[in-house]
Amino acid sequence: MKLSIISENSSGTLTNKMMIKVSDELTSIARKVEAGERLSREDGLTLIYSTDLTGVGALANVVRERLHGGRTYFVRNQHVNYTNICNKFCKFCSFYAKKGGPEPYELSLEDVKRRLEAHRDLPLTEIHMVGGINPRLPYSYYLDLVRTVKEVRPGVHVKAFTAVEIVEIARVGKVSIDQALADLIEAGLDSLPGGGIEILSDRVHRELFGRKLNGEEWKDVSRAAAKLGLKQYATMLYGHIETPVEIIDHLIQLRELQDETGHFLTMTPLAFHPENTELEDIQPTTGDRDLRIIALCRLMLDNFEHVKSFWIMNSVPVTQMALWYGADDADGLVHEYEITYKEGDFGNKKQLLTHANMIRMIEEVGRIPVERDSLYREISTEQLESTRRPQRIPLSVR
Ligand code: SF4
Repeated sequence: MKLSIISENSSGTLTNKMMIKVSDELTSIARKVEAGERLSREDGLTLIYSTDLTGVGALANVVRERLHGGRTYFVRNQHVNYTNICNKFCKFCSFYAKKGGPEPYELSLEDVKRRLEAHRDLPLTEIHMVGGINPRLPYSYYLDLVRTVKEVRPGVHVKAFTAVEIVEIARVGKVSIDQALADLIEAGLDSLPGGGIEILSDRVHRELFGRKLNGEEWKDVSRAAAKLGLKQYATMLYGHIETPVEIIDHLIQLRELQDETGHFLTMTPLAFHPENTELEDIQPTTGDRDLRIIALCRLMLDNFEHVKSFWIMNSVPVTQMALWYGADDADGLVHEYEITYKEGDFGNKKQLLTHANMIRMIEEVGRIPVERDSLYREISTEQLESTRRPQRIPLSVR
């Protein structure tokens, strides 16, 4: 069925009228999208099982263009993974130190300083710090970690500590979650990253990451953060043992929490990488699944402003397609991301897109690159112009 959909931007101005074609099973959802109505759980299930992936993507693109037109956001950031020692032993994790796996490490404040100083000449606006649950680290370490970043790079946005780390920080400090968050904010913490729950399902929690906090505890940390004015990013790890129903339920729970708090900035679905985990027999996700999940996030999360395609997890080519399947954010020029690091990927423990390659990745598929800070404020495009040199796009990091 062909539907004519009028697209509006966030201020309600008519921007364009587009004709999209969807299969009959998607017709009633298309009408809801056209009217800007919230999709139901049943709609989510129809979308996840639909054989019309192009139709699903086209509907997500309507929402994406209504909110952002062709604009595609990215940030200049550096990741610091301060320790890989962890006592949670999540079955999907290849990052934590184990026999026959990665060697254990724990960065001192001096190490962190050196890592930050190595990129001092780059105009980074965000430092993203997460690590394992290392019971040897004292409360003061976490506060000093944040202070160190602010000392070396004043003005940078510190996005750090997933909810599971926040619970650990409060535990070692023998303080409440509220107090731990307040102390971290005082030290310079600006927002919380996603992660820490992977997927809001008691069954998956029991089977894959039972030692970590559960869904309700994760929500409590989010509520505490929102109460203190902290922004947070949301994620969903998919492509392991979760069912389609659990994916839709995860999105609906996030949507309900966002209705309550309004503090989530972005939704980032993360494709599971089975290599070097206890789930190595699971096949990696496909392009269909990656694009469908991006589109689902855009369509189901009507109260989230942004949906991100994290190119490190789902590759540069899939991210380019995702920009037409609902994603309006391509993450950043990531430096030193070690969570899914594999020997040889871009060499030398570095996974990054240069500024020019990020712009080319976005422009090549007809979208408009917009450099942003962590709160989605636009950064001057003058620098973009000066670095617009054609360079070869690296192949997928998979
Ligand atoms: Fe530890 Fe996080 Fe890995 Fe779980 S996912 S084992 S909490 S580092």
